[in-house]
Amino acid sequence: MKNKALCKICGSETDDLIISSIAGEFDTYDVFYCRGCAVGITTPVPTAEELKKLYTVGSYREKTGKRFIPFVENFILYFRHKRKNRIKKYIKTGRILDIGCGRGLFLNVMKEDGWEVAGVEFDEAAASNAASYYGIEVISGEPQTWRFAPASFDVITLNHVLEHIPNPKELIQACHRLLKSSGLLIIAVPNLDGIQSKAGRKNWFHLDVPYHLYHFSDKGISSLLTAVSFNIDRKRHFDLEYSPFGWLQTLLNITGVQRNMLYELLKAPRRWKSALIAARLQDIILTALVVPLYTSLSMVFSLFESFVAGRGGIVELYALKAEGQDDTK
Ligand SMILES: [Zn+2]
Repeated sequence: MKNKALCKICGSETDDLIISSIAGEFDTYDVFYCRGCAVGITTPVPTAEELKKLYTVGSYREKTGKRFIPFVENFILYFRHKRKNRIKKYIKTGRILDIGCGRGLFLNVMKEDGWEVAGVEFDEAAASNAASYYGIEVISGEPQTWRFAPASFDVITLNHVLEHIPNPKELIQACHRLLKSSGLLIIAVPNLDGIQSKAGRKNWFHLDVPYHLYHFSDKGISSLLTAVSFNIDRKRHFDLEYSPFGWLQTLLNITGVQRNMLYELLKAPRRWKSALIAARLQDIILTALVVPLYTSLSMVFSLFESFVAGRGGIVELYALKAEGQDDTK
């Protein structure tokens, strides 16, 4: 066990351990906190080979790129349309880049609305899915290798992606470079400072180690964007797609049901069978008994934490590139 973590955002080391001994794929992980950046850091950092394994088709996604059972997939499509509508309050149409675009569902929604779309997906297999399913231009690889022209996008979205990235600051700088003046950057991340996170601690659904390498607080993500010359225009703390389910799965984890079992069961049918086999019968019965109560509680808690306490389970920021900053930083 390491007793320190390196924060790649500021380059300093921290020994401030905030969550310890979280069982995860490959290892047991700790989360250290960088006070200067207000972010948590997963330690040890998975190796490049381990990261590749985590995102290989078949473990994270189905071959078709779908991740969930059809009922859930319909909800996801609905949420993508809602996201489009929020973007259109800023910019009616133009060129959009979705970083971590997965199978390209959201980009396809934008394309059908008349936008020029492009995607980045770090998993090459998922990237080729998006290309072949929707005919969308999707590239892979690190930001230094992207061949997009500077100041060529009106909108860039990073939906629950930044926490997966080994060097988040570098990616935000790349976004700044690629956006046009007054271009819009939308970033959503789980909120380490949210009530959901504090209540769940190592049981928090959105902690998700070792997939999540950084754990941003509202303050942490805000100061990172400000440091890279973005003006934050709007923040949302409630998201119907992420907040209530985050609570529900966190409450189930706290109760002692096999970790993230419900989430696993909601995934695509091919994995359903293996998830059911892996699940213990008493956990399935217990889940069925408490889910009605926990679902109501989750909705109440989500609304409270977001709209009353201002400390939601997630935070989504709408930030604008400041005028006259088409730099090549
Ligand atoms: Zn730091």
